[in-house]
Amino acid sequence: MVISSGDEIITGQLLDTNSRFLAERLMDSGILPVEHVGVPDELPALTGALRRACEMAPLVVISGGLGPTEGDLTRQALAEMSADALVLDEAAERAIAGMLSRRGREMTERQRRQAYRPSRSVCLPNAYGTAPGLHAVVPVAGPHRSADVFCLPGPPGELRPMWEREVLPRLRPDPLHTVVTRLLHIVGIAEADCVTRLGDLTRRDRPTGLPLVGITASGGVLTLRIRYEGRADRKEAQRLVDEVESLARTELADHVAAAGPGAGGGMLARAVVEKLRGDGASTPRMLAVVESCTGGMLGEMLTAIPGSSAVFVGGFITYANRLKESLGVDAEALRRHGAVSRETAEGMAACGLERSGADYCLSITGIAGPEGGTATKPVGTVHIGLAARAGLAASTGASRSRLFLFTGDREDVRRRACVSALAMLHFHMAGRKPGEPRLLWEVDRAGTA
Ligand code: ATP
Repeated sequence: MVISSGDEIITGQLLDTNSRFLAERLMDSGILPVEHVGVPDELPALTGALRRACEMAPLVVISGGLGPTEGDLTRQALAEMSADALVLDEAAERAIAGMLSRRGREMTERQRRQAYRPSRSVCLPNAYGTAPGLHAVVPVAGPHRSADVFCLPGPPGELRPMWEREVLPRLRPDPLHTVVTRLLHIVGIAEADCVTRLGDLTRRDRPTGLPLVGITASGGVLTLRIRYEGRADRKEAQRLVDEVESLARTELADHVAAAGPGAGGGMLARAVVEKLRGDGASTPRMLAVVESCTGGMLGEMLTAIPGSSAVFVGGFITYANRLKESLGVDAEALRRHGAVSRETAEGMAACGLERSGADYCLSITGIAGPEGGTATKPVGTVHIGLAARAGLAASTGASRSRLFLFTGDREDVRRRACVSALAMLHFHMAGRKPGEPRLLWEVDRAGTA
């Protein structure tokens, strides 16, 4: 059971990324989270939520509310729900004083409050902040008889290392309950089509003891979750999951771009970076980008991947026509066909390739909206170009483009354009013919999306 405390979570001011992190890590450890709860900074609400959580599940992880302010009530709530008293932990007090003195400050009374803990709990050292975490084993009336409660600090930079160092070694997954999860990330195929290809694998009523397959779509990338949950030992569970993964890979072929934790367009960017890096034996291939309506978003997605400097040379943000021209795009073609056109996209990719010296160049030009659309070029119209040093096909030369009509708001259009550009390169590097496969939101030659 995962609890996030804080008014900012309840009011939507802050995205609850801690719950996501905790749920992913629990799954990695073979523990299936049963519920996530958000609780405001109020003592009765926190105490009630902790009590209910302990009755429901043998493991409870709560984030936030360990700081020095009046609104930080997690330690009081833990003491109250377990009928315990708060005592000063001298080691924690010394650690807080030490951390503050290294920053040239003295501990205030308020900060000292963070060194209190319920008498039957232990403090978990915080290497990156002043508030220690807490661990308590709370007796409960439910069938599991006791619940392990871990209270972790809210800031993700403190919570994550505390999870790895302090919580992970203390977890006791049920040896008779095995959970194995595998994620595959799929591009260039619609969700319904994916389900059809996978056939019975995605049925919820598969015989018990077989892994279940679920699909979620995020940012133009589908994530296939293969999960075994049952009483088989770990080795057998891995074998069953391997078997389903291999069936899925056979059905989906090169639509499977990546595997492993994560979701969305970032997974495709990671896959493209890895493919460009190659196997280490050959020299990596280099990529450049020329962006108009995405204003650097594609470059940002690529540079977010550690190690991308080995393959990403950089890019050009040519928003105004004047900058497109100074990159080398033909002024006459720009005037005749407009900034959002096949000719401009192909010119941008070809010029970007030339100017950067890269092996590939992706270009994006379109109308992200909400204004700027016309009858012939509605909002969402985006041309994406790909140029390759080795040429794309004998008949088409070094640069090609594809036309998309994306749905959604400005953010959706821009993000989907970036993901589609990466998908074009992914399939090109997988050896597909130019234009194949037809991608989501792509408009065919007859003009239908
Ligand atoms: P501090 O010592 O900084 O006060 P704390 O344990 O009291 O830590 P909170 O005050 O609840 O934690 O939150 C501190 C900050 O941590 C929040 O402002 C927010 O930036 C981040 N944070 C808290 N909870 C979450 C969450 N569930 N997901 C992501 N970030 C969070």
